[in-house]
Amino acid sequence: MSSIELKAVEKWYGEVQVIKGVDLEINEGEFVIFVGPSGCGKSTLLRMIAGLEETSRGQIIIADRDATAEPPSKRGLAMVFQSYALYPHMSVRDNVGFPLKSAGLPAAEIKTKVDHAASVLKLDAYMDRRPKDLSGGQRQRVAIGRSIVRDPTAFLFDEPLSNLDAALRVEMRYEIAKLHQSLKSTMIYVTHDQVEAMTLADRIVVLEGGNIAQVGTPRELYERPANLFVAQFIGSPRMNILDAGHVAGLTFPGEAKKIGIRPEHISLVPSGEGHIDGTVDVLEYLGADTFIVMDCGAAGQATLRLIGDTDLKPGAAKGMKFDLGCTHFFDAAGQAIEAR
Ligand code: ADP
Ligand code: MG
Repeated sequence: MSSIELKAVEKWYGEVQVIKGVDLEINEGEFVIFVGPSGCGKSTLLRMIAGLEETSRGQIIIADRDATAEPPSKRGLAMVFQSYALYPHMSVRDNVGFPLKSAGLPAAEIKTKVDHAASVLKLDAYMDRRPKDLSGGQRQRVAIGRSIVRDPTAFLFDEPLSNLDAALRVEMRYEIAKLHQSLKSTMIYVTHDQVEAMTLADRIVVLEGGNIAQVGTPRELYERPANLFVAQFIGSPRMNILDAGHVAGLTFPGEAKKIGIRPEHISLVPSGEGHIDGTVDVLEYLGADTFIVMDCGAAGQATLRLIGDTDLKPGAAKGMKFDLGCTHFFDAAGQAIEAR
């Protein structure tokens, strides 16, 4: 069953179109992530779903009801904001129960719902504390708790982890994954971070300039990117893109102008024995693996990933051999050609 459906939705600011006709079906219980570079329209699209931005054209269907013209309060969605917006003078219990108290629910019912939210979010031990006595991650959970008690059709998140430090971001990413596992609610989550998208999403929607570049599972986007944009956006270090004319000993479709190969799908061989030759330019040792940036002359640079360390030195001449099942081909318009 579809939980939220977008039908040809557009957003115009005066003469400027920032969402260019987006069609998307989100299934009940799905964790969908909107990802793309800054300015591609992620927040605008999310805010249109929430009802915080008017939809210029098209339709937004929520739980089989046309919600396009509904105000945010009627949509049954919970937007979890990046800033925690908790009431500083209230305990965690009162913060979580606040929406229910405002709605006039009986105290006993509020207690049941708040206790349930607290146990799902592992906040039981903090119920009497004030927000200032909590860590950033705990505050975020309280904010989510305040949404859970309203039993929304879906949770909407706009870059909830972007102002946290790297360690806390990893911890909160884990918390959000656990939260989705236990709530099984529909979630739409916006991020510019492809690692966050890959690790959390059931399906990723890659946006580029107000259009959907591709929709798919993390694995589909990694293994079968539909175009150069997605090929280079998903995966780190990014996929190497080489002009077809610079690569030797590969058979590929005639219309292929570019060849894509990921850093993890290249191995080093003696010069002349691979698909392209180069010299070692820079070595980036990361412990578990090493990234090697190769200078391939007119063909440009290529990065490859080795497990562990290497005793190679900058300046060494090497051949690069591609894993033949893992090459990608793109036409002059940057669209992937299925050739594998
Ligand atoms: P993202 O969240 O992907 O970084 P946004 O959805 O915030 O991108 O913005 C998408 C585009 O819409 C950007 O080019 C932005 O400048 C433009 N935009 C956002 N809000 C307005 C506005 N109120 N008036 C005009 N343009 C806007
Ligand atoms: Mg944004």
